[in-house]
Amino acid sequence: LPLDYRILEVDVGRGRARDLVAAANGPIEAGLRVHLDRGSWGVDPLSPGNPLLVGAGPFTYTPLMGSHRLIAVFRSPVSMGLHASALGGAGRALARTGYDAVLLVGRSREPVVVSLIAGPGGLEPEFHYLDWSGLWRVYGGYRGWRGARALHSYAADLLGRSRLEGARARLLVVGPAAWRARQAGIFSWVPERGFEPGPVVDSASRGGGGSVMAQAHGVAVLAVGGAADPEPRIPARRALELAREALGKPYARAVAEATVKYRFDPSLGTGGTFGVNYVYYRDLLPALAYNTVYYARPVRAALHARLMKLFWRPFQEEVFEVKGPRAWRNCGEPCSVVCKKIWRRVKLDYEPAHAMGPMIGVFTLPEAARLVELVDDLGLDAIEAGHVVAWIFDMTSRGLLEPGEAGLPGRPTLDPLAAGPEASRANARLAEPLLASLASAGEGPAGLAARHGARRAAALIGEEARGVGGLEPRDLLVYAAFGGEGYMTPNYYWSPGMVAPLYVLGRYWTNYSPTFADPEDYARDSLARARAELLLDNAGMCRFHRRWAQKVVPAAYRELGEDLDPPGSTLA
Ligand code: SF4
Repeated sequence: LPLDYRILEVDVGRGRARDLVAAANGPIEAGLRVHLDRGSWGVDPLSPGNPLLVGAGPFTYTPLMGSHRLIAVFRSPVSMGLHASALGGAGRALARTGYDAVLLVGRSREPVVVSLIAGPGGLEPEFHYLDWSGLWRVYGGYRGWRGARALHSYAADLLGRSRLEGARARLLVVGPAAWRARQAGIFSWVPERGFEPGPVVDSASRGGGGSVMAQAHGVAVLAVGGAADPEPRIPARRALELAREALGKPYARAVAEATVKYRFDPSLGTGGTFGVNYVYYRDLLPALAYNTVYYARPVRAALHARLMKLFWRPFQEEVFEVKGPRAWRNCGEPCSVVCKKIWRRVKLDYEPAHAMGPMIGVFTLPEAARLVELVDDLGLDAIEAGHVVAWIFDMTSRGLLEPGEAGLPGRPTLDPLAAGPEASRANARLAEPLLASLASAGEGPAGLAARHGARRAAALIGEEARGVGGLEPRDLLVYAAFGGEGYMTPNYYWSPGMVAPLYVLGRYWTNYSPTFADPEDYARDSLARARAELLLDNAGMCRFHRRWAQKVVPAAYRELGEDLDPPGSTLA
């Protein structure tokens, strides 16, 4: 039988909460049940009829590393289907509330800070209503922060910094983009001393969960935490025994071997997704609005060499080759992988940095890092933001739109031969107004993308724009279609699995290796991988631990009396 999964349903419209128990093995199953029961398929995803579940897996507070991801389940205003996205470490704070998940329903008329901090007498939900002008003032600047970070700091003052520290709380925050655009994420900073946002931020961004939290429910901040550690479902010693039995070797050794890429790979001399991907995939990573997929190999190789010098090397020198303490951090849960690599106080993961870097013609790291910070402050999904900017740059540089029509003060350069510091700085400057327009649903194609999604925006612009060389705006936007209007822009891997028709894209529920195969074989393999990734997401496990966790998670479920079907694929 599935587990009793404890949910706190919070009706933000009425300002009250009640306990629910779902028969579910994890947050995705629980979310699926809630959405089926309440018929969210029949309503606008940005309406209060679209419940937002944020939940942890069933193995919180066991010593299994990576078991504290927080999974958001909602109907996506981007794909228009049910979606799940994940955020690191916050499952630990959520478990201290005494619940496995929080379900947001109803809508508050004013933006609300919902506080779920368990004290010695239990959990008393608090609702702190803000006024709209106050919220926008905070986004404009608070204690030296801007946007979502400023709201984090403001909420810390509102709820009490020492109380939050005592409860080892995490704040789930939305930025200004969440109130106007479809593509906003739910952000959570690992707090530093005084409960100010530190350099490590994680976000559940793909699919627009932040837009659902803000526009469907009116929630600006959700605080979770509690003073006492909960009892794990499996005692620590037994969990370690299970891991050892399933892995056939000591647990710590198995974790170290399986997570080499994310900590430090001695064979490559680097680590983390940013460090490794450029060395491992080389010219097979898409760049320059995906136009690299059409370039001859020598052009791609020359571009990659330039990228390594201007973009990767400064990171490598300061994060890996520096003497003294390393700026490697974890996501907020005790994890020896410390995959979060900090460059000049900015956490750089491959995808957000690539989105604000080579994908939009920015090959200099300081400019890309600055844009990554801006996107986080605005509260946007960085991958989607990279696609929108790249698409508008591509239309403008090919002449489908004039810069003024695109909302740009100049013409961007996506010429691979011009890729260098000067073009990078110019492109980075041009990206800023587009990001602002995407976040505020402003003028031009970025504003249209915010209001209607990028796919529909491409169709609308197509009615006005000049076709050039047989190309229309929608030909230059890269996405997988879902139904008549939904879509998902792919993560930045050059792989058919990123756009192949699968149930949930924008995650790694697919085969994303840069290989081609017969469609039937590819489909079989992608579906099996999707099931294996789903098993880990539903268990609240970090996928960076997948190589060992895929063996241990089924054994841990068996210990709880649940025999799951094998997923049919091994995740490399
Ligand atoms: S690998 Fe990274 S993201 Fe995953 S649990 Fe460890 S520190 Fe967190």
